[in-house]
Amino acid sequence: MAVNQDIRVGVCGAAGRMGKEVVKTILAEPGLQLVMAVDKAHVGEDTSLIAGRAEACGVLLEDNLEQAIQSKQPQVVVDFTAPAVVFENALTVLKAGVRSVIGTTGLSPQQIAQLESQAVKSDSAVLVAPNFAIGAVLLMKFSQEASRYFDHAEIIELHHNQKLDAPSGTALRTADLMKQEQARFGKTNVERSEEKEILLGARGGVSEANIHVHSVRLPGLVAHQEVIFGGIGQTLTIRHDSLDRTSFMPGVALAVRKIVNAQGLIHGLENLL
Ligand code: NAD
Repeated sequence: MAVNQDIRVGVCGAAGRMGKEVVKTILAEPGLQLVMAVDKAHVGEDTSLIAGRAEACGVLLEDNLEQAIQSKQPQVVVDFTAPAVVFENALTVLKAGVRSVIGTTGLSPQQIAQLESQAVKSDSAVLVAPNFAIGAVLLMKFSQEASRYFDHAEIIELHHNQKLDAPSGTALRTADLMKQEQARFGKTNVERSEEKEILLGARGGVSEANIHVHSVRLPGLVAHQEVIFGGIGQTLTIRHDSLDRTSFMPGVALAVRKIVNAQGLIHGLENLL
């Protein structure tokens, strides 16, 4: 009997905007097999049809993640749900000894540390990737590099107006990476005691890395980010635009393939490239 080597993949949040793209990707990619789909919406319906494909795939949407894992035995679960539920979902996946690929944003550093402990305990692996688009990963890398030479920078992130968390996970991660290169952001970038904010929030939020982050939410946008550096007589702007959710899919497929042989926590797609 031939042994099927396909990676058995489950999708949590499979009826959402990102989940539907992931479903289409898993169904189309060689070597990946969709075996499980979980969502609170469209329960009992065919996942492929919900994702907008003409052909049914036979995988029906279920609403209980734990039971679905037990019955469908995925090797990897991809999560694109919501900030309020992603932590519990990921714990459920890891406790079952299954590998977890997390695209949902909003996890706190403490929650990420807890997921790492659970992954180690379960001899499993978890990837937390605030952005699966290669261009956004490069934007973060270039911004980190530019931070060695500039000690003034602000971040503007722009997203569609259905997004639940602000600022975006990508903006927070970018700020953290920049801070790793430039210890002086705190002193020279934001400490202006004489500055008066006439309209509350006009200067944006100040990240843990002491970088101002501005969040724009408008219909028509997908996911965009600018990092603007300022120096004497010059500025440098690094910008990335995700114009369509398909921009995230090569990164998701790569993550699913690579996490099968990974251990523990991987934070950021760049660590799998
Ligand atoms: P969405 O609201 O369109 O979809 C979320 C889906 O999750 C919905 O279908 C909802 O019913 C389902 N859901 C909610 N609670 C659930 C639960 N407990 N169990 C199972 N399913 C549940 O949202 P979206 O636009 O697809 O975004 C999802 C997440 O992905 C957000 O956090 C967003 O910021 C993030 N995101 C990440 C990337 C990346 O590259 N990492 C890119 C885009 C979006």
